[in-house]
Amino acid sequence: MCRPNDHEARRATPEDEICRFAPFDCASFDSASFDSAQDRPDRSPSPTLPQRGRGQSNFGRGLAAILVSFALIAGAEEGVRDYPAQQVAPHTYVIHGPLGYPSVENQGFMNNPAFVVTPQGVVVIDPGSSVQAGRMVLRQIRAVTDRPVTHVFNTHVHGDHWLGNHAIGEVFPQAAILGHPEMIRQAKAGAAEQWLYFMERATQGFTQGTRAVIPDRPVGEGDSLAIDGLHFRIYAPGKAHSGTDIMIALREDSVLFAGDNLLYKRFGQLKDGTFQGGIAALDFAAGLGMKHYVPGHGPSGGVEIVHAYKNYLSILYAETQRLYETGIADYEMKEEIVAKLAAYHDWANFKDEVGRHINQAYTEVEADL
Ligand SMILES: [Zn+2]
Repeated sequence: MCRPNDHEARRATPEDEICRFAPFDCASFDSASFDSAQDRPDRSPSPTLPQRGRGQSNFGRGLAAILVSFALIAGAEEGVRDYPAQQVAPHTYVIHGPLGYPSVENQGFMNNPAFVVTPQGVVVIDPGSSVQAGRMVLRQIRAVTDRPVTHVFNTHVHGDHWLGNHAIGEVFPQAAILGHPEMIRQAKAGAAEQWLYFMERATQGFTQGTRAVIPDRPVGEGDSLAIDGLHFRIYAPGKAHSGTDIMIALREDSVLFAGDNLLYKRFGQLKDGTFQGGIAALDFAAGLGMKHYVPGHGPSGGVEIVHAYKNYLSILYAETQRLYETGIADYEMKEEIVAKLAAYHDWANFKDEVGRHINQAYTEVEADL
């Protein structure tokens, strides 16, 4: 069992290795407490990390084929099982992933990849956590259209959303891959390597062979893209979920792809963001008045799902602030705050995450004083 703050006190074990950099609590995986991917201090970025699949040499392709072969030998030959895409609007399809943490059981696949079919091609949002997940996403696209993928948006730096870029680049090397400049910076600075490592560990090797294909086209607040007559508008909410976030609005379908700024029926770690920034991003998202909201995890819906998650963050933060002023410690607040969050007890990962959320809100309240 790996406990928080235990790492420095003794020689690192393999469990500590994953504890140190994984974005979730170790206790949620087998036996281990996790820190942020960005925190892992001892894995510097690989100098050979490819930024894009395009322009790969024959040698590079050969090497990629060998790596794929190893992955096949390692047991990934079955690929990620199919999750059929659901059409949520005229041009928009969402593959709603399972709600847990990355695991052997879910093959590391647990986000919501989405795609928009344009008159000439396909725009993908967050193609999953691995090359295997990305290939599954391509199969679902193929079930809908034969058009080529022309663009890929990555909503933020957390690898469960974007390591599937590798699969898109294999088939459509000319596709533009877009992300926030800070996402690109962090990915190059080590987050990519850390997420590759984490996914491989969490799935016991299933995602082996995945390469980090980092976006090469930065997009930020206020950018607009007209793609085959469809209009995409970028919103970058600052320090909301991760500090690397973009939300993408598709005007014609009245859809907002919110990334992990919006979660529904499933919680995750919030340690790379802030409560106040997250609440502000959700207020902004609701104010856009879209018909459809696609969360980073969990079912899509109308504006009511934005209110649901915003209320969670607001109640937790306001209660932490109120109790902080009474002078009690964060762990002493838990029972009272949890009782006020009864509407969320059935959301996946509630028990694993709520204590850490309170701890983080406490730190944020303290820093804000
Ligand atoms: Zn995330």
